Amino acid sequence: MAVLGEKIEAIYQQVKARNPGEEEFHQAVKEVLESLGPVLVKYPDFAEQRIIERICEPERQIIFRVPWQDDKGQVQINRGFRVEFNSALGPYKGGIRFHPSVYLGIIKFLGFEQIFKNALTGMPIGGGKGGSDFDPKGKSSNEIMRFCQSFMTELARHLGEHTDVPAGDIGVGGREIGYMFGQYKRITNRYESGVLTGKGIGWGGSLVRTEATGYGTVFFVREMLKARKNSLEGKTCVVSGSGNVAIYTIEKLNQLGAKVIACSDSNGIIVHEKGIDLALVKTLKEVERRRIADYASYHKDAKYIAGGNIWEVPCEIAFPSATQNEINGKDAKTLVKNGCIAVGEGANMPTTPEGVKVFLDAKIAYGPGKAANAGGVATSALEMQQNASRDSWSFEFTEKKLDEIMTGIHATAWETAEEFGASGNYVLGANIGGFIKVARAMVAHGLI
Ligand code: GLU
Repeated sequence: MAVLGEKIEAIYQQVKARNPGEEEFHQAVKEVLESLGPVLVKYPDFAEQRIIERICEPERQIIFRVPWQDDKGQVQINRGFRVEFNSALGPYKGGIRFHPSVYLGIIKFLGFEQIFKNALTGMPIGGGKGGSDFDPKGKSSNEIMRFCQSFMTELARHLGEHTDVPAGDIGVGGREIGYMFGQYKRITNRYESGVLTGKGIGWGGSLVRTEATGYGTVFFVREMLKARKNSLEGKTCVVSGSGNVAIYTIEKLNQLGAKVIACSDSNGIIVHEKGIDLALVKTLKEVERRRIADYASYHKDAKYIAGGNIWEVPCEIAFPSATQNEINGKDAKTLVKNGCIAVGEGANMPTTPEGVKVFLDAKIAYGPGKAANAGGVATSALEMQQNASRDSWSFEFTEKKLDEIMTGIHATAWETAEEFGASGNYVLGANIGGFIKVARAMVAHGLI
């Protein structure tokens, strides 16, 4: 990794001191700051205006109690978060994550990444993120509903179609968005479609939003391969996870002629050399909400490895689509050694800094999350556009827009890397490309 210049190192040390114990946030900030040295040289007004310091400090952070009753009538208490990080380009925009690992440091890393990701899409959206340490695993649908209602009872006052527009993330899908939308409508007495995205089709949702993160990641990888005169056709792929991002990554890979031989969940991995049976994964995970281990009982030629490491399965392209820091330095080395030529990050920050260094040093096509997985939030912005005009677009039209946006993000990251003398380095290209858009708007808005 590049060494931080003196000025940027001082900013980083200050971020660490002001946000103690928030390791994931430090990691996300460091990665962006490492790219920014040459930007300050080129745009001295960004330094004068202390844009980096301002970007690292969220505009607003909300932490609240979420009390709810489980099916036995017991009172439960969780903690809710919404970090409204940056509104230079539009209303705060970013998902809500329900997972027991959630604490302020996770929400801040996600919100920070979201600023640059959203800027790269070229859509008018700022950056934010929210969530709770609530664990949806094993909860009944009624418990999920009561939790979502309680969560929204507090959050509603901070939201608005022109203020802050949440969506889903890990543990939050169409069902949860539905419960939250219902509660928001009841509290505010407003049918404000544009206040949440990822809504159901028929009540303001957009076609392709469900598929968007996975499809977009595959489009991004297609572009990276195209830039190297290669294609997805016939490539052997491994996709970690088996949630929304993984499922639609597999679907698009299949459509574009690649073959996915492994996927996973937090308990273990499935290896199916014949190719993952996507219809079965969809039924198990989307409909029946079961574990991926059950896959093996439907396919005798598939192997389930409890606690297995998916990055040890040899592949040409890897799609980390589960969670943060799922590929460490050793995993990255294993992937490269086994002939991996490209990585498309469907998850947010799935590779540790050591892993990123391995990919960059090996000069494989490495698409960092804030560029590669921006298709989800970009399609959320398309949903907002349809809501604002009380319109709904066809699947084909919306998918074409998504494809154009992903192709555009690739071009921005590629060209920015070229401009700053780091050809093929999408980390630098995405960080600088996103940062400049936000920084310009912040300078224009004055000291606020
Ligand atoms: N949670 C998704 C992300 O990481 C989507 C956010 C959104 O659609 O607002 O970008």
